[in-house]
This record gives sequence, C-alpha cells and structure tokens, in this order.
Amino acid sequence: MLKDNLKKVQTNIKSACERAGRKPEEVTLVAVSKMKPLSDIEELLETGQMEYGENYVQELCEKYENISKPVHWHMIGHLQTNKVKYIIDKVELIHSVDSFHLAKQIEKEAVKKNVEAQILVQVNIAQEDTKFGIDGPEVIALVEEISKLPHVHVRGLMTSAPFVDDPEENRCYFKKLHQLFIDIREKNIDNVSMDILSMGMTNDYEVAIEEGSTMVRVGTGIFGARNYNK
Ligand SMILES: *Cc1c(COP(=O)(O)O)cnc(C)c1O
Repeated sequence: MLKDNLKKVQTNIKSACERAGRKPEEVTLVAVSKMKPLSDIEELLETGQMEYGENYVQELCEKYENISKPVHWHMIGHLQTNKVKYIIDKVELIHSVDSFHLAKQIEKEAVKKNVEAQILVQVNIAQEDTKFGIDGPEVIALVEEISKLPHVHVRGLMTSAPFVDDPEENRCYFKKLHQLFIDIREKNIDNVSMDILSMGMTNDYEVAIEEGSTMVRVGTGIFGARNYNK
C-alpha cells in the first residue's frame, strides 16, 4: 500500500513536470517519515526511494542507527543549536537554517566531525506568526553572512506554505520564493550554489513544481495521516 502511494506521488510529480515543461529528474522527492515506524521506511527502501525527511533529532538518530542500509536523511524540522552535534554527520541536507547563530554552530560541529554541511535557508514566505523562517531582505543578508563560513554550503531555500484547502492559494508564495531563489543565484555569491528549492508538501507539491520547486517533501501522501496523540 505504501508502495502504491509512493508510485502515485511519483506519477503526479511527472505530470506536474510535463505541465510545466520540466524534466522529472529536476525534482527530488523527499519522503517525510516523521512519526512513522522504521518498518514503513524499510518497505519503501525496496522501491529504491532513498531520500527521507525527519523533524525531530532523537527520532532521526534512532532511525539512523537501526535502518538496514544507509539512506539520505534530511533534517526538515526546527533545529536547536545544542542538538546540531547529534545530526551533523548523519544528514545529507539541513533544510531549516533561519539564523546566523544556528549556522555558526553548524560550522563549529562540521569542523569537529570533519564534514561539509549542506544547508538551505528557511523562508517564512507568507509571514505567518506560527512559522519559523525569515523573509524579505533578511534572506539575502543571511545567505551572504553564511557564505563566509567555510564548512557550511548554502544550496538553496526552503519554505512551508500555509495550510490551505485549495493549493492554488499558495501559488503566489511559490512564485515569490522562486523569484527570490533566482535573484540570489544571479548574485553569484562565493560558496553559495543555489541549486535546491525545497517547497511543496502533500497538499500543494504539484503547484510548487509548476512554480519551480526542485525538492518536494511529502509525508501524509505516502505514509498516511500522522497520529499526534500517541
Ligand atoms: C511534516 C512536514 C512535511 C510533510 O507534510 P505532509 O503534509 O504530511 O506532506 C513537510 N515539510 C515539513 C517541514 C514538515 O514539518
């Protein structure tokens, strides 16, 4: 059943790419496995799905230790400075960097563990009070600041759009973030590559792809609803 869900999402991604005149290879699917058992991931591993997103440090570490073969882990949740050390050498990409304070800690731990950290700057594109991330001119300023940290590589931007009934309502936000992504890329900042635009979740990933997303984070659409009361 999980495999069927995955296939359906992959098909939808292909169709969205076709509509937008893009190649499906341009879009990476991160399966968001937070609050789902490791056995679910093991099931999907058989299909060759290699990218998994987690929100909580402890859960990520437990799955990392117990999985039967290595996969690419994405840290997509809010990251506290004092927890960077636990995940720095375990994750492929940190999607949720929204302060220089956090980036400096990532630099420090990357040096200690002798790794190069790949990160995205999290943008609160709809300026919602309830969400982490920064917006406006702050984004460019932060990217420029982080670019001076030698072991932290800004690869792009990430956002979580508002939860809406009709995903079309989020199209304007995806457009806006894509434009910001292009603007920053055109600055050609040293040590900044701007090749990943992480936007689109279960509810709105097709619209996000039509607006230029290169990485979608889909949880519910693959694993089913999460139970927050467990
Ligand atoms: C939980 C989560 C997702 C996945 O959300 P779904 O609506 O289940 O697809 C994606 N991105 C972030 C940052 C999340 O916290």
